[in-house]
Amino acid sequence: MDEVDVLIVGSGPAGSVAARYAAMKGASVMFLERRPTVGVPVRCGEFMPSDEEIHNMFPKLTDMDSLFDIPEDLRCLNTVGIDLINPDGKVTVLDFNGYTTDRDRFDQYLAKRAQEEGAVLSTDHAFQKIENGIARTSKGDIKYKVIIGADGPGSMVARNLGLQKNRNPYPAMTAQVKGDYGNHTQMFFGGIAPGAYGWIIPKDGRANVGVGMSPKFSSGSLRTYFDKFMDRNGLEPVTKVQGKYVPSEGPIPKTVSGNGMVVGDA
Ligand SMILES: Cc1cc2nc3c(=O)[nH]c(=O)nc-3n(C[C@H](O)[C@H](O)[C@H](O)COP(=O)(O)OP(=O)(O)OC[C@H]3O[C@@H](n4cnc5c(N)ncnc54)[C@H](O)[C@@H]3O)c2cc1C
Repeated sequence: MDEVDVLIVGSGPAGSVAARYAAMKGASVMFLERRPTVGVPVRCGEFMPSDEEIHNMFPKLTDMDSLFDIPEDLRCLNTVGIDLINPDGKVTVLDFNGYTTDRDRFDQYLAKRAQEEGAVLSTDHAFQKIENGIARTSKGDIKYKVIIGADGPGSMVARNLGLQKNRNPYPAMTAQVKGDYGNHTQMFFGGIAPGAYGWIIPKDGRANVGVGMSPKFSSGSLRTYFDKFMDRNGLEPVTKVQGKYVPSEGPIPKTVSGNGMVVGDA
C-alpha cells in the first residue's frame, strides 16, 4: 500500500497548487488525476484577470508573485475590457485587464511545478472512497495523514468527509472558434443564457465561446441554448463542445473535517 503525508485528489489548478505548497513545506505528496492527461479536455472559458486586477480584488493576498507566476507563453492574448451585452444589444464597457490562456497547457504547467517540488502525480487514477481512514482508488489503497479534495464541483472527497457539496451548480458548455474577436471579452445576458451568460473570449486568432445557465430559470437543454448562441452570433465551433458544472453559490460553509479538507471548486 502507498503511504504519503498528503494525498490530493484532482490535478486542476487547486490540486496542483495545493500539491506544490505541501511539497515545498517538506510533506510527501501524491496527487491523483482520473483523466489520462492533465488539463484535457479543456472545459473552461480560459479567461484570467491580470495580476494587477487580482491584486485589486484581493489586496490582502500574500504570495501573489508565487501563486500567479504565469509565464508569458501561457498568455495567448491580453484583453483590456469586458463588454456587457444586454438582450436589446446595448453594450456597457468595463475597463478590466486580463488575458486568455490555453487551459490544458496552463493546468499542465501548474502540475509540473508541483512535481518539481517533489509531489508525485498519478494520472488515470481515480479516487473512489475513504474507508477506515484509507483511500480506496482505482489503483489500490493509499494511506495518508491528510487528504485534500481538489476534485471539482461534484466532489466525491467532500461527500466522503461528510462535508456539504456545492448546491445548485450551473451547467456550462464551451468550444473554440477561429477568427479575430478584438481584445474585449464579450458577455451576453438575458434569455440567451438564463441566470448566467454567454461569452466570446478572444484568443490569438481564435476565441473561446460558450454558455452557462441556471437550471432554475431555463427551459430546455444547455446544448439547445449553446447551439442558439452559436447561430445568433454566427459562430462555428472547430473543437468538440465540452460541458461541465460551475459552482454558483460561493464556498461551502465548512471546508475542513478531521484530517481532510476541500479546495477550489470542491
Ligand atoms: C465552461 C466553463 C467555463 C469556465 N470559464 C472560466 C474562466 O474563463 N475563467 C476562470 O477563472 N474560471 C472559469 N471556469 C471555472 C474554472 O474552470 C474552475 O473554477 C476551475 O477549474 C476550478 O479548479 P479546481 O482545481 O478546483 O477544479 P477542476 O479544474 O475541476 O479540477 C478537478 C480535477 O479533479 C479531477 N477529478 C475529479 N474527480 C476525481 C476522482 N474521483 N479521482 C481523481 N481525479 C478526479 C478532474 O478530472 C479534474 O481534473 C469555467 C468553468 C466552466 C465549466
